[in-house]
Amino acid sequence: MVRKQAYRACGPERQSTLPMSLCSRYLGCSPENQKIYSRDGRLIYHRCLDCGIIWRDESSFDLELPYNEQYFNSKNYAINRDHKIEKSGWLLEIAGSYGSKINSVLEIGCSLGNTLEAASRMGLDHLGIDVSSFAVGFCKKNGLNASTETLEELLQQGRSFELIFMQHVLEHFKDPFYVLEQCNQLLPVGGLVMILIPNSNYSRAKRQRERHRFYKIKGVGVEHYAYFNYNNLSRVLESCGFKTIQTNYPLLVKEHDSFSFMFNRLARRLISIINLDQELVMVAQKAEIPVLK
Ligand SMILES: [Zn+2]
Repeated sequence: MVRKQAYRACGPERQSTLPMSLCSRYLGCSPENQKIYSRDGRLIYHRCLDCGIIWRDESSFDLELPYNEQYFNSKNYAINRDHKIEKSGWLLEIAGSYGSKINSVLEIGCSLGNTLEAASRMGLDHLGIDVSSFAVGFCKKNGLNASTETLEELLQQGRSFELIFMQHVLEHFKDPFYVLEQCNQLLPVGGLVMILIPNSNYSRAKRQRERHRFYKIKGVGVEHYAYFNYNNLSRVLESCGFKTIQTNYPLLVKEHDSFSFMFNRLARRLISIINLDQELVMVAQKAEIPVLK
């Protein structure tokens, strides 16, 4: 999915903020309380020993990939489209199991539009944004609503959505707190954010460190800026005005359940018990009263 350069979405005053000082500011961590977690050449990740978030060292921020057609081809995003659309529909069903009915969805990092297609088939108003004009053009060609507008631009237009969906996207921002604060402003009270993101507790990545693709220059290490677990992601969300309402895949969904959907959820919950789950799944709700930092 897509993939944005955080600077694009962050205000100018945020551009000089070091990752380690972000959890210091938002979560009260000590900026000194960190340890090098992995090192692959110039690519270094640190682990904050207070919150456990694994932050990329800013000395490697110049190592980035352009989100062009070649990028999407290399990831095979267009392959197995029907299957991916079905799975995106499942995720939207999960989000729809909480609170009142969802009518509108914003996908940040819409990539080639699998989730937008699922939303469209479910009759939801949808908009996908992406920094990649290739991805946005691909979505538009398929009749989907997509744009290269930023979150700031959507806020300036007074846009609002009932669900904001981010599938393997938040880790591509240098300042995830700022992105979540903007999401909060784009939602009504009670509005939902659904996040899928790599799991820093995934056992193989934890064991292999810089030999694992999460932290390798030749893996996704140069695309990502932070890795979370359920506990610290929940704290991050809370610091940005959200309350976590679902951690991991739920056992039950409100509507449109099926054997394969249920089997998938159960299997994912089971593998998470022994940290074999590569991704976290979380649903959070915009809190009634802003959470004080
Ligand atoms: Zn921290």
